Amino acid sequence: MADVVFDQASRIYTPGSKPAVDRLDLTIEDGEFVVLVGPSGSGKSTALRMLAGLEDIDGGSIRIDGENMVGVPSRDRDIAMVFQNYALYPNKSVGENMAFPLKMAGVEKSARAQKVKEAAEILGLTDYLDRRPKALSGGQRQRVAMGRAIVREPRVFLMDEPLSNLDAKMRVSTRTEIASLQRRLGVTTVYVTHDQVEAMTMGDRVALLADGKLQQFATPADLYDRPQNAFVAGFIGSPAMNLFTLPVTERGTTLAGYEIALPHEVRSTIEAQQLTTVIVGLRPDRWTVGAPGSDGIPARVDVVEELGSDAYLHGTLAASSADLAETAVLNGSREDAVVVRTGGRAGARRGDRIVLTPAVEGLHLFHPDTGERL
Ligand code: ADP
Repeated sequence: MADVVFDQASRIYTPGSKPAVDRLDLTIEDGEFVVLVGPSGSGKSTALRMLAGLEDIDGGSIRIDGENMVGVPSRDRDIAMVFQNYALYPNKSVGENMAFPLKMAGVEKSARAQKVKEAAEILGLTDYLDRRPKALSGGQRQRVAMGRAIVREPRVFLMDEPLSNLDAKMRVSTRTEIASLQRRLGVTTVYVTHDQVEAMTMGDRVALLADGKLQQFATPADLYDRPQNAFVAGFIGSPAMNLFTLPVTERGTTLAGYEIALPHEVRSTIEAQQLTTVIVGLRPDRWTVGAPGSDGIPARVDVVEELGSDAYLHGTLAASSADLAETAVLNGSREDAVVVRTGGRAGARRGDRIVLTPAVEGLHLFHPDTGERL
C-alpha cells in the first residue's frame, strides 16, 4: 500500500506542442480511491499511463511512497492495471488467466493456486475457474480482469474505463462492486472515467481535468456544492447546472427582467473587480415552479422528461409572457434556456406557461472572463 504524488507532472507528446498533461499536482493518500474524470482528450489516460510507466514524465515527478518514478520501468513500480478491454487470454481458463501475472513473477505453483483461490472467493468466481473467458458474461470477464490485478497484491491499482464494455445496468452494479471491493482491500486506486456519475459515486475524491489541466480535486460533495470554476459547475451534476452571463445591477443582477438581490459581500467582490457582467449558476433543483401570474420569471415548457421519481422541464425564460410568444421553440443553446427538476408526475406539458423563481441561496457566481468562482 502506498501514497501517490503527482508533482507538477507533465507529458508533452510532441516537442513544442501543448502538454497533454500540464503540471499536474495531486496528492493521493494511502488507501484512497481517486477518480480522474474529464471530457475526452483532457489527459486522464495520459496521467494514468504516466503513473503506470507507459508514458514518459517530461516534467515534474511522480512519486509512489516517496520514491521518484521517473525512469523506473513499469514492471518495477509494483502496480496493477485493469483496462477497458480486459485483454484476457482466450485459450487460458479463468484460473490460469488470474494466475498468469504470478507465474510471470516466478511465484511457485501452490502459492499461485492459493492466491487465485482467495481472489476467486472475493470476486464470486470460484465456480468459474475452469471456464474459458468466452463462456463468461461481460460482467464476469470484468471480474476476472480485477482478479488478475488483485492476486498480485500491488501497491496501487490503476483502472482505465474498466466498465465501458458493460451494458448500463451491469455498469451500475459493477461500479458498486468495485468500489466496495476497493474499500475492503484498502489498496490505493486511481480510476479513469469520462462519466461524471461514475466519478461521483465511486471516488473518495475526484480530480476533474480539462485540456490537460487540473480544474479541481475534491470530494464529490465539495465538487457539487462548491465548484471552483464555471467549467466544474457545468461538468458535475446531471442535468447540468444552468449557467447565465448576466448584467451587474445595483442590487445584484437581473435574469430575464427578474431582479436577483445578491448578498453584500458578493456585491463588494463584484464592485472591487469592476465587473459589469457575472456568470450566474443555478442547479435544476433550485427553482420553484409557480402558476402564471405569480412572482418570478415567466417561462414556457418546451420539453418534459418524465423519469418517474423526477421530471425535468426544459424551458425558455422571458422577461414577460408577451416575449415568450416570440421566442422560437428549441433553437439550440441559448441564454434563455433553462432546465428545472421537479418531482415526478410534474403535470406540466410541452407548451405550458409557468413562472420560475430562482432560490437565491443556491446561486453560484463566477468571473465572466476567467470563470473562477467569486
Ligand atoms: P483522455 O484520456 O482524457 O481522453 P488522453 O490522455 O488520451 O485524454 O489524451 C490527452 C491529449 O493527448 C489529447 O489531446 C490526445 O490527442 C493527446 N494524445 C494522447 N495520446 C497521444 C499520443 N500517443 N501521441 C500524441 N498525442 C497523444
